[in-house]
Parts: sequence; structure tokens; C-alpha cells
Amino acid sequence: GRIIETTEISKVYKMGSEIINALVSISINIDKGEYVAFMGPSGSGKSTLMNIIGCLDTPSSGTYILNNNDVSDLTENELAEIRNKEIGFVFQTFNLLPRATSLDNVALPLIYAGLNKYDREEKAMAALASVGLADRASHKPNELSGGQRQRVAIARALVNDPSIILADEPTGNLDSKTSYSIMDLFQELHDKGNTIIMVTHEDDIAHYAHRIVRLRDGLIESDEINENVIATG
Ligand code: ADP
Ligand code: ADP
Repeated sequence: GRIIETTEISKVYKMGSEIINALVSISINIDKGEYVAFMGPSGSGKSTLMNIIGCLDTPSSGTYILNNNDVSDLTENELAEIRNKEIGFVFQTFNLLPRATSLDNVALPLIYAGLNKYDREEKAMAALASVGLADRASHKPNELSGGQRQRVAIARALVNDPSIILADEPTGNLDSKTSYSIMDLFQELHDKGNTIIMVTHEDDIAHYAHRIVRLRDGLIESDEINENVIATG
């Protein structure tokens, strides 16, 4: 089934008298279970598009259907609710709470979801186990390697069982060996049926995805099946 459907979405920023067309009539469909990489030079609109797809922002015009809901025109609060339910975020800088353990970091989205402490910890533990870090549950971020921190962040993204995992430069702060091990993990998540959308500058990282979309000047320059998927495992 279809999980994302945007129809001619545009985003216009006004900076004083200057008008910036960050996205120009973008129509893109993504099905459940796809693994897509967004590429493109700086300023091409990747963050703007990811913010809209992730319900952090709304388009200036056009429609965005997420999991059969029209989310083009929601209020801040409505967007936040959809975001907590539908989207798992992974960031370049991990964005973990420095004083909280892995378990508490992973359990955090479940507080917003209203689960009790026992259920939160059970689910967070299962998510940590799924990224290979069951034995790091009581460690704090500064007691973990970069790769382990990103695994904790991925567990946090997964814990709500989101419709989509949105990863913004997920390997941007990691050395290449660790980057490839994180990409192996994404590959596993893809094999389990997760829908993954990632932004990356790096060609070798993008080639783990099964579809590569290139943006330029707010337009889709190309949208192709990746014929050279990096096989792992
Ligand atoms: P990318 O992620 O590919 O680097 P962005 O989506 O961040 O591109 O930016 C696309 C265009 O929109 C750029 O010209 C950028 O300067 C502009 N832009 C992005 N965010 C804002 C904002 N909040 N206000 C004004 N202009 C913005
Ligand atoms: P580091 O920065 O310490 O190299 P990694 O991200 O490579 O961290 O690995 C973190 C933990 O996950 C390690 O305990 C490692 O054994 C384990 N691990 C590495 N690759 C995988 C994988 N593909 N699937 C599951 N666990 C993995």
C-alpha cells in the first residue's frame, strides 16, 4: 500500500522582499516497505521536504497524504500527534538526552504515547535488543561509542512501531566502518518490512537504498530504482 503521497507540494519562504521557492510542485509516492535515499546539493530542498514528510512543517500549497490521512493543513498540535504515531526520527547528531540511560532515552517517546512505566521499559528493552544493545541498557550516551549511540537513537525511533523511519544524514558523524554497520542495521530493518527514508550526501551510503531520488533547486531531478544495491549480511 501507499504510505506517502504528495501532490504538487510547494514551499515558499519569504525573507523580507526576497521569495525563496524551496520546493516547487513536488509529486512523489512512496509505498510501505520502500527504502529511499534523498540526495542533492546543499540548498536543493532536502531538509524542507523531509520536514514536511516528517510532519514538522506543512507545505505552502499542494496536498500530502500520510498513511491515508490528509496532513497538508493541520495545526501544530495535530501535527505533533501524527508525528508521534507515524514517524521515527534518526539524526546525524543522535539527539540523545546526555544524562539519561539508553533505556530511558529509548522509552521517552512512550511517555508521550501514555504507556505506564512497566510497559515502557519492556518495549524499550525489546527495541534495544533489536539493535544489538540489550547489554547497554543502563549506559549513558558518554559511555557508548558513536555507533552505539546511533543504535540507541534507532531503537528510540523504532519503539513506537512507526509507519516510517526518517533518517537525516544518519552516518554523518560516524567513521566509515561504523557507518557501514549502521547501514547493515537499516538493511535488516528494511528486510523486516520497515519503510525507510534517508537523506545523505554520500553516494556509497545512498547505494544501500533501493530507490534514489535526487533534488535540485526544489525540483525532483531524478527518481530511480537503485540497480546497484549494496548487498549485506
Ligand atoms: P537542503 O536540505 O537540500 O540543504 P533546504 O531544504 O534546507 O535544502 O533549503 C532549500 C532552500 O530553502 C534554500 O535556498 C534555503 O536557503 C531555503 N530555506 C530553508 N529553510 C528556510 C527558512 N526557514 N527560511 C528561509 N529560507 C529557508
Ligand atoms: P562501534 O562504534 O563500537 O564499532 P557498532 O555500531 O559497530 O559500534 O556496534 C555496536 C554494537 O552492535 C556492537 O556490540 C556490535 O557487536 C553490534 N553490531 C555490529 N554490527 C551489527 C549488526 N549488523 N547487527 C547487529 N549488531 C551489530
